[in-house]
Order: sequence, then C-alpha cells, then structure tokens
Amino acid sequence: MFDLRDLYQEVILDHNRSPRNFGRPEESSCQARGYNPLCGDRVTVYLVIEDGKVADAKFEGRGCAISTASASMMTELVKGKTVADAEALFAEFRRMCTEDEDGAEEPPEALADDVEYLRVLSGVRAFPLRVKCATLAWHTMNAALHGDDETTTE
Ligand code: ZN
Repeated sequence: MFDLRDLYQEVILDHNRSPRNFGRPEESSCQARGYNPLCGDRVTVYLVIEDGKVADAKFEGRGCAISTASASMMTELVKGKTVADAEALFAEFRRMCTEDEDGAEEPPEALADDVEYLRVLSGVRAFPLRVKCATLAWHTMNAALHGDDETTTE
C-alpha cells in the first residue's frame, strides 16, 4: 500500500525547506501566475528565453510542501532546455501524475534522467487532490511559454 508518508520523501522536504531558483529575475521574457484553489497554492513563474532555450527560470509564491518542491524541481529541470524539451517534459510529468504508467510509452530518451528525477513526485497519483499541487508550477510554466499570464488548475 502506498502511504501518505511515502509522498513526503527527503528530496521533497529538502526542496521545500530550501527552494532552488526562488525569486524574481531582473528581467524575464515571460511570466505567469498560477493558482490552485483546492489547496490555496499560488506560484508565479518567470522565464528568460534566449535563442529558443530557457536561459533562466525562477519562481515566487507560497503553497504546500508538494507545490513548493515541485516548483523548485521544475525550475532546475527546465533551465538550459530548449522550449520544445521543456514542453515535452511538462507533458510527460503531467502524464506521470495522472495516469497509470502500465503500458505507457517510454519517455523520450533525452528526458529519461529528468523523468527519473521527477518520479519522487509522481506518488501524488494516489492522492487526487495533491495532483494539482504537484502540477501547478508546470502548468504555470507552460502557460508562460504560451503567453498566458494566468492559469488555474481545476
Ligand atoms: Zn498544495
């Protein structure tokens, strides 16, 4: 049985205690605000895009441990990626958090390490309310890339 305690693994607690890339860049190419009304999580994601790549990614906001850890991990992973890879990783992460992985397609080879890194968060599948917490920052990052300045996970 998957236990709620298993969700709060050390890597998540560590990212929550000391979030990476927390703050606001001096200038950003795009940004978006995200809100998860089910839990009250709020996040703003700032992206600096240069030559089709995410040159910098930062976030601000407050929320539960899962939403903060997920935002922290998201900024770590998308930084340095092409916009296309950041979108592909978003799609893969969302699938991991919402669908049964049995029989699922293998993630793109180039993203395999990142997918493995994110696996610690995919335990939210067992807790539907927590899925919104885990995917909020990713939805918000994706919204920023697509020029939407606001997103709400419902
Ligand atoms: Zn939350």
